[in-house]
Amino acid sequence: MNNLRNKLTDKMTRLIRRHLVGKDQEWTFESPPPGWKPPRIKRTSLYLHVPFCYHFCPYCPYTKVPYDEKLIEPYIKAAIAEVDWWAEAIGPAEITSIYIGGGTPTLVMSGVTEILTHICKRFNVTGNICIETNPVDVNDKIVQSMHEANVSLVSLGVQSFDADLLNTIGRRYEPIIAEQSLKLLVKSGFSSVNADLMFALPGQTTASLIADLQRAASLGADQITTYPLFTFPYTAVGKFMQLNSVKMPKIRVRRAQYYAIYDWCMEHDFERVSVWGFKHGRSPRYSSVTRDGYIGIGPGAGSHLPQDFVLNTFDLVSWTQATTGGNTAVALRMPLTKETSGWWWLYWRLYDTRIPLNQLDAVLYRDAPKARRWLRVLERRGLAVRQDNFLELTESGSFWVHLLQNYFALNYVNTLWTTAQGESWPGMISI
Ligand code: SF4
Repeated sequence: MNNLRNKLTDKMTRLIRRHLVGKDQEWTFESPPPGWKPPRIKRTSLYLHVPFCYHFCPYCPYTKVPYDEKLIEPYIKAAIAEVDWWAEAIGPAEITSIYIGGGTPTLVMSGVTEILTHICKRFNVTGNICIETNPVDVNDKIVQSMHEANVSLVSLGVQSFDADLLNTIGRRYEPIIAEQSLKLLVKSGFSSVNADLMFALPGQTTASLIADLQRAASLGADQITTYPLFTFPYTAVGKFMQLNSVKMPKIRVRRAQYYAIYDWCMEHDFERVSVWGFKHGRSPRYSSVTRDGYIGIGPGAGSHLPQDFVLNTFDLVSWTQATTGGNTAVALRMPLTKETSGWWWLYWRLYDTRIPLNQLDAVLYRDAPKARRWLRVLERRGLAVRQDNFLELTESGSFWVHLLQNYFALNYVNTLWTTAQGESWPGMISI
């Protein structure tokens, strides 16, 4: 049944993609040609991937290795070498934001600081620095290191304050640890503290979800990102669920929980900033994914360039050897047509829940009329409403976009990452 559903999802996403983007765009990642270099770039963002974790959560799809003291020094050297490679290739670009994810970046905070110092030497960093952290990692020393590294936005992976649910998803801490960590971050003077919370977990009730939202807000989180459990078939949770037939909540339960989050946030002065994210007050918006262009440092990091999407090798050893040898760690490259880049932009604006209609021509070129037709369908179906020059998703529009993104992510990320995690230099992957 699962296989049949996966095949149908795959077919559907391919059909929609082909209809939207057309036949010109090949959806194939290949090794870059010898001597490949990105073009010079004036402004971009930067993603730093720190792949170390003490303990692997079974649902986690990200590139990571078990924390080992011996791996840290070579990782820092390799990351610095990769920063140099990008700086030589694209020039001393303005970096408008830095996002540090993982893995658990705060496990190697002094290394992160060293890499950031080097990034600031090679680029003109003008934007804010955001870092992810784990409740078990947060203490006074880490907070001080984050300030010394000029981090201004912190995202804490709380997931839930319910002990049973934490146990279900394999997070090894008591709710009190998540509470204390969130409290400490909030009082430590960052511009914003985001709490990640999961919903639609097996056995989770709407009441317990609301209790989580209330707890996060009462402890002072000014941003809350809620996301459902992704069951990538290659993660331990994917296998566990297939083998043991653990049932995920049905779509109607998921929708009810999504609406409950939405309504609770609206009633408590949180404004919606994305299909999954809500923000309170005037803090700068935290977001891990919506930047239009970025370069990626670290194993498995992606870079969205003006005409390409590229992915580094996922293997830590291969990545270290490539970068410290003065070579690129890019293992896979998919050239993008300008229209495909435009659809990509529209995809993330849908994620933002707000589409600036007056920019469609400038980013989608000859596909702008097709995009307008699709947006009119959203409007007619009550999934979006027009507000001046913007089209804004309604509550139900947000839910359906969230679901669509869930299936797109599952479909593409699963195909791409399954191969890329199994082979250091895969040669070619068609998605
Ligand atoms: S969810 Fe975070 S802490 Fe858990 S394995 Fe993944 S990266 Fe590591």
